[in-house]
Amino acid sequence: MGLTNHSVGIRAVDSGLEIKKQSPDDLVIAIAGNPNVGKSTVFNNLTGMNQHTGNWPGKTVTNAQGYCSTRDHSYVMVDIPGTYSLMAHSAEEEVARNFICFGEPDATIVVCDATCLERNLNLVLQTIEISKNVLVCVNLMDEAKRKKIRVDLEALSEQLGVPVVGTVAQKKKSLGGLLNALDALVDGAAAVQPRQVRYTDEIEAAIQMVEPVLAAKMGNQINTRWLSLKLLDYDQSLIGEVNHYLGADIREDTEVAAVLDEAREYLEQNGIPLEKLKDRIVCALVTEAEEISRGVVHYHQNTYNATDRKIDRVLTSKWAGYPIMIGLLAVIFWLTITGANYPSKLIGDGLFWIQDQLTALFHYWGAPEWLHGMLVLGVYRVLAWVVSVMLPPMAIFFPLFTLLEDAGYLPRVAYNLDKPFKRCCACGKQALTMCMGFGCNAAGIVGCRIIDSPRERLIAMITNNFVPCNGRFPTLISIITMFFIGVQGGMFDSVLSALLLTLVILLGIFMTFAVSKLLSKTILKGVPSSFTLELPPYRKPQIGKVIVRSIFDRTLFVLGRAAAVAAPAGLIIWLMANITVGDMSVLNHCAAFLDPFARLLGLDGVILIAFILGFPANEIVVPIIIMAYLAQGSIIEMDSLMEMKQLFVDHGWTWITAVSTMLFSLMHWPCSTTMLTIRKETGSWKWTAAAFLIPTLIGMAACFLFTMVARLFI
Ligand code: GDP
Repeated sequence: MGLTNHSVGIRAVDSGLEIKKQSPDDLVIAIAGNPNVGKSTVFNNLTGMNQHTGNWPGKTVTNAQGYCSTRDHSYVMVDIPGTYSLMAHSAEEEVARNFICFGEPDATIVVCDATCLERNLNLVLQTIEISKNVLVCVNLMDEAKRKKIRVDLEALSEQLGVPVVGTVAQKKKSLGGLLNALDALVDGAAAVQPRQVRYTDEIEAAIQMVEPVLAAKMGNQINTRWLSLKLLDYDQSLIGEVNHYLGADIREDTEVAAVLDEAREYLEQNGIPLEKLKDRIVCALVTEAEEISRGVVHYHQNTYNATDRKIDRVLTSKWAGYPIMIGLLAVIFWLTITGANYPSKLIGDGLFWIQDQLTALFHYWGAPEWLHGMLVLGVYRVLAWVVSVMLPPMAIFFPLFTLLEDAGYLPRVAYNLDKPFKRCCACGKQALTMCMGFGCNAAGIVGCRIIDSPRERLIAMITNNFVPCNGRFPTLISIITMFFIGVQGGMFDSVLSALLLTLVILLGIFMTFAVSKLLSKTILKGVPSSFTLELPPYRKPQIGKVIVRSIFDRTLFVLGRAAAVAAPAGLIIWLMANITVGDMSVLNHCAAFLDPFARLLGLDGVILIAFILGFPANEIVVPIIIMAYLAQGSIIEMDSLMEMKQLFVDHGWTWITAVSTMLFSLMHWPCSTTMLTIRKETGSWKWTAAAFLIPTLIGMAACFLFTMVARLFI
C-alpha cells in the first residue's frame, strides 16, 4: 500500500497518482464533476497559475494539480476527469472512482450545473456513497437565473446531508464562499450526515447480509456499504483495485466468498439475477436524483429549457437536422478557405524572407553548400512550408469548431447521427470522434475513449482516417481550386470550392458508415450498445476563451507535432532529391519505379512517392510533388496556383489525376502520429495494421475503379 495523505512531500496514493505537496500540512482536495459544468474554471480560478499537469499513471488521462490557500489551510487541488458516473465504464470514470475511493483525499468537491441539477445529482449521490467529506458546488448560478431556474441550496444541503455552495465560477469572489465552506468541512465544523441512497428492499437485504462481514474484516478503511454493493454487482475492475489497496485478495477470504454467494442466491431467488442488478442500482440512483431535484429546483413560468427545446426541435429534426449540419460544415469550410489565403501568403513571405537571411548568413560564414542545402533548403524550407500552409486554416478552423462545441451543438450532431451509426452496428458517439478527426486524426483516436464498448471503439478508431485532417485540407483545397474552379479567387469561386470540399468530406463520411458496417458484419461482429446521450443546454460561447483555448490546446499543439515530424522529413526528402544515381535523383528513381502501379490508380509515380514520403505529415505531399516535377533539389515556393497548375498539367495531370489524387488523399494510410496513437490506444499491432491496410486498400480500389470508368468516357 502506498503512503497515506498525511505523509510528507510527494505522496504516492493508492490511486497510483503522485500528489506533490508544497508543505506537509497541505490538504488534498479532489475536484469532480460532469463534463462541461465549469470544473476547469473552478479549478483554474482557485489555483491561478499555481498548477502543473501530468498523466494518471498507466492511463493516458491527463491530470492537473494546483495549489490554493485560505487563512486557515493550504490545499492541493486535484482535477479529476469529468464523468457522469463512477460506475467505471471508461478509463476516465475508473480514474475518478479510484482517486475518490482510494486516493484518500481530505475532501471532494463535486461541481454541478445549476441549470440541469438532476442529472448532476447522479454523480453527487455516487460520490457521497463512497466518501464522507463531500462539498457540493452548484455552479452556473447566473445561467440558472437567466433561465429562471431557482435552486434552493439550503434545502439541497439538507436533502444530501453535505454542505452545498452556489457559485459563478468565472467570478473569483463567488469562489470565496466555496473556500469558506471547504475550510469548515475539513475542520469538522460543518454538519455532515451524507444521505444514503435507498435501493429496493431485496438489494438492501442483500447489503445487510454482506456488510457486517466486510465491516468486521476492514474496519473503516473503505465504505463497506458501498463495497458490499459493488461486490454483489461483481464489479471486476473495482475488485482488483480494492485488492491492491488492501494488499490482499478479498475473494480468497472464505467468509466473504460464502456470504457473497449466499446474498447473490438470495437476490436471484427474489427476481434480481446478476444481469439485472446494475439496472436496478442505476434506477435507484436516478429515481433518488429525481426526487431530490423535484424538491429543490423551482422553474418559474415553466420556461425551463423551452427555448432549448424549440431549437432542438429544429436542429435534431428529420427534415432540417442533416441539411443544417451539412450547411454548417460548408460555412466553416468557406470561412476557413477564404480567411486563410491572405495570412497564409503573409506568413509564407515572412518565413521565406527569413530563409534568404539564413542563406546569406551561411554564405557569410563560408559554410559548405551541402550543409546549407540540408539545413536551409531541406529542413527549414519544409518547416516553413508546413507552418505557412497549416497555421492559418487551423487558426480559423479550430476556433470555429470549438465555438460549435462550446455552444452545445456537437452533441446534437452525435444525436442526429446516432441512428445511422446504430444501423451500422456502431456507436453514435463515433460522430464526436469524427468531429475531432477533422482537426487531427490522432486527436480523434484519443477521443474514441468516450466510447465504452471496446468493439465499437475499435470501429471508430479504424474508420477515423476517413475524415480528412487539417494536414490534408490544403491538398484538397488547392487541387479543387486549380482543376475545378479557376484560380481568380472571387466570392463565387470560394463558395464553390467550399461546396466541392464539403462533397469530398461527405464521401469520407459515407465511407465511414460503409466501413463501420462492413467491420461490424465481419471481423468486429456484435450488437450496438446503447448509451445515454447528454444534450446539454445551449450556452452562449465565450468567444475570447474559445479562441485562446483552441489556439493553445489544439492549433499550436497540432502544429508543434507536425513541425516535429516535418523537420526530419525535410532532411530525408532533401537527401533523396539531391543524391543522384546515374543522371537521376533517388527521389525520381523511386518515382519511376512506382510509376506503372501508380498509373493504374490514376496517379503517377511522383504522386505516390509523395504520399509515401508524406507519412510523417500529410501537409508535405504537395510540396514533394512540386519538388520532384521540377527535379529540383529543394521544395520551391510557387508564387501562384496558376503556375502550379501549369507545372502539373505539363507533367500529364488531367481532371482524372486530380480526382484520383483527392480520392487517395481522403483514403490512404493514417500519418505516423496517428498510427502511433492507434498502437498506444489499442495496445495491439494487429489493429494498428488493420487501421493502416483498410483505408489504403479501399482508397486504391476506389482510385482504380474511378480511373477505369473515367477513361471509358474520354
Ligand atoms: P469543464 O468541462 O467542467 O471543465 O467546464 P469548463 O470549465 O471548461 O466550462 C465550460 C464552459 O462554461 C466554459 O465556456 C466556461 O467559461 C463556462 N462557465 C464555467 N462556469 C460558468 C459559470 O458559472 N457561469 C457561466 N455563465 N459560464 C460558466
